[in-house]
Amino acid sequence: MRAAPLLVVVLVLSIAMILLARTFVPRSGEALQLPAAIAVTEVAPEAGLQGAEKEGSQRSVLEKSYVRFSSQSLEQGDTLVIAASPARKVQTGAVGATDVDFFELFQRGEWIGLYGVDAKMKPGTYGVRIAFEDGSAYRDEITVRTRSFPVSELALTPDLEARGYTPKNIVENIVEEENRIVRDAIAAITHAALFTRPFENPLVRMEIAGAYGTIRKSGSSELQHLGVDLDAPRGTHVMAVNDGAVRLARQFKNYGNTVVVDHGLGIYSLYLHLDSIGVEQGAKVLRGGVLGHVGDTGYALEPHLHFSVKIKDASVDPLRFIEQVSRGAELE
Ligand SMILES: [Zn+2]
Repeated sequence: MRAAPLLVVVLVLSIAMILLARTFVPRSGEALQLPAAIAVTEVAPEAGLQGAEKEGSQRSVLEKSYVRFSSQSLEQGDTLVIAASPARKVQTGAVGATDVDFFELFQRGEWIGLYGVDAKMKPGTYGVRIAFEDGSAYRDEITVRTRSFPVSELALTPDLEARGYTPKNIVENIVEEENRIVRDAIAAITHAALFTRPFENPLVRMEIAGAYGTIRKSGSSELQHLGVDLDAPRGTHVMAVNDGAVRLARQFKNYGNTVVVDHGLGIYSLYLHLDSIGVEQGAKVLRGGVLGHVGDTGYALEPHLHFSVKIKDASVDPLRFIEQVSRGAELE
């Protein structure tokens, strides 16, 4: 007589506990959506006294299958690293309207996707979507915050002026010609990672002379500095930050002697103002391989390396990129 209501109470409590666990677990970095078939089995009231055991088995499924973010709160210029467990093969991924290519991390079999938050990306919340080959999907979101960038004068030296450089023609030439050529060179996406190791610095000694993101003004002309300027004596070796293929090796009026390296997955590293270029377009390069030497060709006040990183046309902070990718993907 009393057994039936008690059984109902036990069943209702078991279902409530399982539902609560399911509600709270997926918000964290361990979040995932279980395939529908598993979810139905796990909450079946027939489980009765075996409910705890069933919940335990659900937890072991959670441990095997996960999606991890390097951070869900990012600043303009940051690189987001998304890692998915080896358990399920990633088919496609996207942040907002941009596709994210995933590659299988050779050391652990984990799936890694990199997304670049452009310096000019509109602050706000963006959806993240991952589709797995088994038909299941994962959805979450990230927020992008404004980063305050310094403002400075677009400087010139008497020597540069004598050679015909003016703030107006520097800005016009970069925006209308040089950026277009670089954009064309990096438009092709190699849908595989050409690297297996962490990214490294392009110079042995890193001394920042000009910050990423600085807005350089002169009258109505304005340029945002989408790389970092590294101080180094003329002739210093400039090294590839990782394995890849040379997509561009040429001279520009403002960017000077320039090398662009494709690392796959839409990731490109750029090296500007070189004194000399030591590689040819199409050549394969290894991490640490010498691409050329530090110089002051083009619009440069003194010898330095301008170093940039692009991920599918997003200009990211190159120094944060090296650090955030190594840490987020746990590359060793
Ligand atoms: Zn620069």
